[in-house]
Amino acid sequence: MSHVIAIDGFSACGKSTLARAMAKRLNYRFIDTGAMYRMITLHFLRNEVSLEDEGAVAGALEGLRVDFLPGSNDAILNGENVETEIRGRAVSDFVSPVAAVAAVRRWVVPQQQAMGKAGGIVMDGRDIGTVVFPDADLKLFITADRETRIQRRIQELIAKGIPADPEAIANNLDERDRIDSTRQDSPLRKADDAIEIDNSSLSLQEFIEVGMAEAAK
Ligand code: C5P
Repeated sequence: MSHVIAIDGFSACGKSTLARAMAKRLNYRFIDTGAMYRMITLHFLRNEVSLEDEGAVAGALEGLRVDFLPGSNDAILNGENVETEIRGRAVSDFVSPVAAVAAVRRWVVPQQQAMGKAGGIVMDGRDIGTVVFPDADLKLFITADRETRIQRRIQELIAKGIPADPEAIANNLDERDRIDSTRQDSPLRKADDAIEIDNSSLSLQEFIEVGMAEAAK
């Protein structure tokens, strides 16, 4: 049985859904690292931090707290529940440039590593199996075709009551994938020892079973 499970992949291919479900079944902690980058992004947007201004970035990160509410896992920024706000368009359009800033990753990665110290964790993101936990007990790399991902993201937003414009969502996913996989610092890539799962045509139940079967090996 695995103690640190790393789940990576492109935007909206089902990583967080799988990570959350597996954590629940295994009674592990679930960490959505994308939400951490989204909280930082919201903080930068609110404080009009320019990414080119190293001093402003460092200042904005100082004293910043990004947490998760026990139970629901809602995103908590400096004590405020921002779960809905971080899923909206303003944050989605700015998060990948923010996540490409080396100082931001230097600030957030050690916090993620500390969360995994005790084991019993499922963490999803883009660099978990390559950078955050290169020695994870299990690494999964999730893929899904573009159309499936767009449709799933639309349904997800509608379910949360967040406006979903299909063209804007498609553009956002394409652009984030491009920035995430070409950035200099920790680009998104499959770890050599990760197991790839194609989630294009699996039902939710099948997807979870495939993940659980890997964890049981
Ligand atoms: O997972 P989610 O789509 O919410 O992630 C939002 C963005 O955060 C990604 O598009 C990526 O730019 C960034 N991210 C990252 N590394 C991670 C998790 C997310 O760079 N481990």
